[in-house]
Amino acid sequence: MKPLIAITGASSGIGAAAAASFSESGHPLLLLARRADRMASLGLPNTIIAEVDVRDRAALQDAVADAETQYGPLDCLVNNAGLMQLGELASQDPVEYEAMVGVNILGVLNGCSVALASMAEAGRGTIINVSSLAGRKAYPNHVAYVGTKFAVTGLTENLRQEVAGSNIRVSVVEPGAVETELLGHTTSSDLISGYEQWKDSIGGALDADAVVRAIRYIYDQPQSVCIREVVLASTGQEG
Ligand code: NDP
Repeated sequence: MKPLIAITGASSGIGAAAAASFSESGHPLLLLARRADRMASLGLPNTIIAEVDVRDRAALQDAVADAETQYGPLDCLVNNAGLMQLGELASQDPVEYEAMVGVNILGVLNGCSVALASMAEAGRGTIINVSSLAGRKAYPNHVAYVGTKFAVTGLTENLRQEVAGSNIRVSVVEPGAVETELLGHTTSSDLISGYEQWKDSIGGALDADAVVRAIRYIYDQPQSVCIREVVLASTGQEG
């Protein structure tokens, strides 16, 4: 059997599409998110479903340990779980930016930290962090989200350097707008409808499979090749 792949945020959007792709290629999977029913409904074989909040490092660690007992060492972690709640900082409920920092930064650090322990022992591995174009550029109403995604982009490059000598690849994917459930967590209906209009004006967002192809491009290279960064967006997205 092929090596074990773990995907956070596998209950919808990019994570669910990545799960389907790796499963189709014969990998056993560890799927992590809070909505276990949604992960189970993917109906994928050789798959362990773990109802885990990525902010809980101990729960992540236990889930990875359980999966490794069944399927062997973790070869790839797709650190994909994320939360976007748009708003201007002055009026945004602090609960929202705290949640984004928790999921988008702490969750990614937890995933990296847990995966590295196992990969260091195996002497190989790949971590793919899903950042965003908002990890490279600023956008209106994105202050807190941009802050968290710049963090993901920055910590990925720093970690890549830190573990390069251990035969562990660390890469970042930075998509522009993708058609998923992400926008639905924004509380302002005006911001949601403005964003939807903007997506229409650029001819539509990427579909999740476009991002999955970037993830697969990174993972499917020989272990000796590290694609450090992939930036992609729909052709019509100018900014
Ligand atoms: P979705 O909202 O469809 O998926 C987000 C996933 O993250 C869900 O599976 C959700 O699962 C999971 N998640 C959220 N909070 C937690 C948590 N505390 N613990 C565990 N899992 C959590 O959006 P996308 O597929 O678009 O998002 C995937 C990644 O892509 C995110 O990091 C996002 O920032 C990034 N991205 C998305 C873009 C877009 O336009 N859609 C553009 C650029 C980057 P559950 O709720 O079940 O826990």
